[in-house]
This record gives sequence, structure tokens and C-alpha cells, in this order.
Amino acid sequence: MMGKRYAAIRPVNGGKLAQHRSRVERRKVRLMRQRKIRLYCLLTAICLAVIAIFLIQGKSFIRFNELDKKIIEESGDKGMLDDEWQLRLVNSNNPLDKDFTVKLKTVQYNHKVDERIADYLTNMIEDAKNDGVSLLICSSYRSVARQQELFNEEVNKYVSAGKSEDEALAEAAYGVAVPGYSEHSTGLAIDIVTPEYQVLDSGFENTDAFKWLDKNAHKYGFVLRYPKDKTDITRIKYEPWHYRFVGLEHAREMKDAGVCLEEYLSLKKVGVHK
Ligand SMILES: [Zn+2]
Repeated sequence: MMGKRYAAIRPVNGGKLAQHRSRVERRKVRLMRQRKIRLYCLLTAICLAVIAIFLIQGKSFIRFNELDKKIIEESGDKGMLDDEWQLRLVNSNNPLDKDFTVKLKTVQYNHKVDERIADYLTNMIEDAKNDGVSLLICSSYRSVARQQELFNEEVNKYVSAGKSEDEALAEAAYGVAVPGYSEHSTGLAIDIVTPEYQVLDSGFENTDAFKWLDKNAHKYGFVLRYPKDKTDITRIKYEPWHYRFVGLEHAREMKDAGVCLEEYLSLKKVGVHK
């Protein structure tokens, strides 16, 4: 029955309805097309953004690698970065390079140190003074020639005391580094005493100056280089007056771990920077 009624109506409105339907269809198609275009645009934009990010990151990665390589090449050896000059190891097995040079700066009473550590040292002395402790530098940078003089004096002292030359050389080397093997020639080491106690012996550890240094030196990048319990490693007798600049971070780590420079370098697995 219903079908018949429709069949009767259709011929009357059929044309307009068909027109309306086709308009609706066209609109639908148009909308669909617009949506597709928008979607394609969006996808293209996302792809381009992803490609751009990769390109930028890749470029900066390459740039970083090049910079890193340049620093390593300039630093000269064993892959150490440029700021690792402060970990330069000079001991009885590791002499300074023959062509080693350092830019010096004068600090307290005409003493000279590597210019890069001068401010740290000056600040340390100033802050100690503000705490009522007087720190007196008694030895700083020494040229290899000066080290030779000191070493000869030490050898002569033992020879005069009746030792053979070999014995004198061995004894002298325990107290005064062999020329070319002294940390003082790096400009990174200083001997510090106090006006009331200027003797270089283990008694210095009982002074307020030593107590202050023991508590604070690492805050300025300095470490006690030849501790009492490390003589078998450093092969230098206990020297409570000898401090060595290693930089703030390394000094803090060494202090916390209770290790000397030789141990620290082997823990860090870094090469020897001569
Ligand atoms: Zn010293």
C-alpha cells in the first residue's frame, strides 16, 4: 500500500527532489575533498617539522662532535678535554714535557702561579684572613733550573752527612722532586705555612692554618697533595704544607672520596696530561 502511494507521489516532486539530492551529494563530496586536503596539509606539515627537527639535531650533533674533536686535538694527548689541565699529573713516573710552558701571575709576596689559579688562591688567602687565619705562601712556581739547584743542595746535604752518592740521590728524591718531575714546575702547586710556624715539617699539621686548609682548601679547588696515608702511592713524604690546584669539582670529589691525585686519575680512567 505504502509503495503505491510513493509511486503516485514521485512523478509530481521527483525532479526537485533529485536536484536537491544531487546538491546535497555535491556538497558532501566538496566537504570530503576539503577535509582530505586539510588532512594532507596537516600530514605534510608534520612530516616537514619532523624532517626539520632531524636536520637541526643532526647538524648540532655533528657540530658538537667537531668541537669536541677540536678541543681534544688542541689539548694534545690521550683524549683529555681542554679544562683537564688542572689534572696534570707530575710525579716520579711522569715528568713534565720538555717544551712545557705556563703563563704565570704574581700572587702574595711576588710568588708566581699559573695565571688560571691566581684568583682561587688569592680568594682562599683572603677568606682565611677573614676567619683569623694567616696563610703564607713559602713556595710556588719553580722553573726546572731552580728545581735542579734545590735538588743539588739536597743531594749535597746527604753526601756531607756521609751517604754515598746513590744513597744521597735516593734520599734527596724522597724530599725534593727530581728536576722535571716537580709539581711546582707546573705552576699549580704551592707550599703554604703560617707566620707562627714556617718550618716545613709534619708539625705544621697542628697549626690553625693547617686545620683551616684541611677544612676549606677544596672549596677553592686545592687538595693536600701528599697525604700521610698515601706515601706509598705518591712516593713523596707527608707534606701537610703542599697544596695542589685541581679545580673545584675535582677537589670536592677527591676530598669526599679521600683519594690522592694518582688514585683519582685511575678511578676516573683519564690519561696523564703532561
Ligand atoms: Zn711543595
